[in-house]
Amino acid sequence: MITRFAPSPTGPLHLGHAYAALVAHDMARAAGGRFFLRIEDIDRERSKPQWEAQLFDDLRWLGLSWDGPVLRQSERLPAYRETLEKLWQNGLLYSCTCTRRDIEQAASAPQEGAPLGPDGIVYPGTCRDKGAPRPGQPLPNTALRLRMDLAATDTRFEETGPAHRGGHEITPDQMIREVGDVVLARREMGTSYHLAVVLDDAHQGVTHVTRGEDLFEATCIHVTLQNLLGLPVPSYHHHDLIRDAAGKRLAKRDDARALSKYRAEGATPADIRRLIGL
Ligand code: GLU
Ligand code: ZN
Repeated sequence: MITRFAPSPTGPLHLGHAYAALVAHDMARAAGGRFFLRIEDIDRERSKPQWEAQLFDDLRWLGLSWDGPVLRQSERLPAYRETLEKLWQNGLLYSCTCTRRDIEQAASAPQEGAPLGPDGIVYPGTCRDKGAPRPGQPLPNTALRLRMDLAATDTRFEETGPAHRGGHEITPDQMIREVGDVVLARREMGTSYHLAVVLDDAHQGVTHVTRGEDLFEATCIHVTLQNLLGLPVPSYHHHDLIRDAAGKRLAKRDDARALSKYRAEGATPADIRRLIGL
């Protein structure tokens, strides 16, 4: 078994991150497997070295050790590009220059209520033809969207998390209507979360993806990409999100729950495990 914790160094780790890290770590250790750490730093604007340094420090303080070298997504841009080139040459991508506003306007006309997918409004397809690759055209530095009508296959995966236990299956038709042409590369970024996470999970040989319930909806996109690229489909475990005393899910950016704050107040790693119910 190989698991991973994949934080983005864009802010302090909080209780929710500690929970995700401990779930992945404990699952691998209990099975005699391996646990990897991956730094998801493709957002160069928001990723900061000081957050990365603090993240290592917080994880070590929690008593976590990881196997092998740390993988940084910022070092994997050539691998992402190679895959994008291949998909582009095969006509599976198109260049999209729509702004968020363009998409909202196109999606809501003529009928009201644009369908919502895992990434927000299902893309109405405005650029599908005009952004299509011309023969010999190099990969453009724009957003690149996936032709879901060409890419979608039957999407199946095993899920062991509490909210969706069992096997899941999504039809190509559902992928087209309810997910649509997702972004595989953002402008100036050279990839998107979906592409990077799929390529890196395969690269690291991750067999069990553990992560928060908030990413469950994105999993059908990841499995579609795994099928398209001939990569193994791991097993998924989407765990509950940590809630505050009022039962509200902790936001990703809830700095009030930063581990460093608990540390400064004298909490021990055992206190943190107790707080998050582990
Ligand atoms: N980097 C993502 C986050 O911070 C996690 C990605 C994943 O586990 O697939 O939420
Ligand atoms: Zn567009």
